Amino acid sequence: MRYSQMLLPTTREIPAEAEVISHQLLVRGGFIRKLTSGMYTYLPLGLLALQKVTGIVREEMNRAGAQEILMPMVQPGDLWMESGRWKKYGPELLRFRDRHDRDYCLGPTHEEVVTDIARRELHSYRQLPVNLYQIQTKFRDEIRPRFGLMRGREFVMKDAYSFDSDDSGANTSYETMRQTYVRIFQRCGLEFRAVEADSGAIGGSFSHEFMVLAEAGEDTLVICDTCTYAANVEKAAIMPSRPAARDTALMEMVKVATPGMKQVDTVAEFLSVRPADVIKTMIYLADGVPVAALVRGDRKVQTVKLKNLLQANEVEPLTDEQLWQQARLPLGYVGPVDLQLKIVADQEVMHMTNAVAGANEKGQHYTGVNPGRDFQPAVVGDLRQVAADDSCPLCGGRLCLTEGIEVGHIFKLGTSYSEAMKASFQDSDGLDKPFIMGCYGIGVSRVVAAAIEQNHDDKGIIFPVPLAPFHVIILNLGPKDADYCQASERLYTELRDRGLDVLYDDRDERPGSKFNDADLIGIPFRLTVGKIFAKEGKVELKIRKTGEILVLTVDEMISHVTELVRQALSC
Ligand code: ATP
Ligand code: MG
Repeated sequence: MRYSQMLLPTTREIPAEAEVISHQLLVRGGFIRKLTSGMYTYLPLGLLALQKVTGIVREEMNRAGAQEILMPMVQPGDLWMESGRWKKYGPELLRFRDRHDRDYCLGPTHEEVVTDIARRELHSYRQLPVNLYQIQTKFRDEIRPRFGLMRGREFVMKDAYSFDSDDSGANTSYETMRQTYVRIFQRCGLEFRAVEADSGAIGGSFSHEFMVLAEAGEDTLVICDTCTYAANVEKAAIMPSRPAARDTALMEMVKVATPGMKQVDTVAEFLSVRPADVIKTMIYLADGVPVAALVRGDRKVQTVKLKNLLQANEVEPLTDEQLWQQARLPLGYVGPVDLQLKIVADQEVMHMTNAVAGANEKGQHYTGVNPGRDFQPAVVGDLRQVAADDSCPLCGGRLCLTEGIEVGHIFKLGTSYSEAMKASFQDSDGLDKPFIMGCYGIGVSRVVAAAIEQNHDDKGIIFPVPLAPFHVIILNLGPKDADYCQASERLYTELRDRGLDVLYDDRDERPGSKFNDADLIGIPFRLTVGKIFAKEGKVELKIRKTGEILVLTVDEMISHVTELVRQALSC
């Protein structure tokens, strides 16, 4: 492409709402323009970057035996009523009516539509397994669209769905997708981890998220420094601690005045104990019913773990106001003794002795509280969030926490959709069985943003070669000089003939602004036809990532750059 003919509006202006670097650079580099909240137009350069991702995804999905289809974005409400999600999905599902007053929604995901295809077209175990995928625009009316392409309302997703006749087949389909995802993100040139994710009702290790490591990530990952264990903090298990021998005598429970002491730290200091000796009692609404969650004073409740322990659909903390209005409990003084709510305790709490806990009266705490003697939880389990320096549940190594961007998610669904929607096939004995399903998503447009979050400097983007909209940019610094033009045109034509994607900056602009634009848009290999060409007939190569410079003749440069690109794409 010739720069002079391309709609590539680079700008110095950073939109006020662009909090993260990928958003800023995508706008400054002329990749995207905002239409309205969470919705963007991809300009030519942005679309090229997106197509690089879709190209890799498509190749690897096809290689894994999945078949590409394209489903409608508008979906009939009836299907969602069948699956039960019309009620459950909440306001992220954009619903509307057509002229006949029939319910529709914009697809945030396609389990319903694809299950409908399966029940109509797949009848026998002989037709299975099948994996159908599409690359398509999704719409989710996110409560907080932000960070540009990272959390849009309209975004591009690759979604795949597998149908198997038995459990072991479904596990094989899942494993094939897990390996395919590893290949996809390796080929994208990104630093990522596959982490165990919360799989809700299904349990086991049948949900993995693929996380690109980057500070701007909205997810926290737990990684072992010794073995390969990696998990989302929502799921990361705690090694059950050995019960401490209760050699201290159990004290009587005593009510003490703790006026104004609402925080664990202040109560602990006031009573001269460690925060770890205080029982922290947090009240949540689980499917609308208040429950009390207990953790040690120096720990945090992990709400996804709480949700799973309670087998609830939704768990949210009670606001201060609700605490009083709905549970008649005084903020800062809530405790498990004589509490008239369901109590869920972290396993560690049950090993505490002579602890401090709120007395459910304003300005009052108990000392000498002993779990089991003074209160009995309804549920005991792994409730707390992993903290840095906890032990790895697999090997006992040290756990570290780091930020990641979720770019992919694979999930064994089982028969939840096929049963609800009566999607079945005949097995080898002629019996009707529901399909065993899996679903596998990649946030294609989010991958572009994540790649930039992970690869940039103060001058701009540093695209990994496989995702770069162009591999090479040629800067002609003498666009009015016939020799400069001839050399530049030769580079342009011959590199393209060798299959490279080349942007030729033929504009009549100052060298400084050409250099700045090239750095900003992050093209991996920059070739300059400039002063050295005038003197020695040679061209300069600068590698965006390392800053390395190499000067070669035009012929040498053509084969050298071709080889560099080939190498970078072959990993
Ligand atoms: P998140 O927790 O980030 O909201 P999710 O669990 O809702 O993600 P899935 O339903 O598993 O996401 O969707 C598959 C993939 O689509 C995600 O892994 C992510 O990469 C991408 N994705 C989800 N929501 C968005 C969004 N609002 N904007 C861009 N990409 C998204
Ligand atoms: Mg979401």
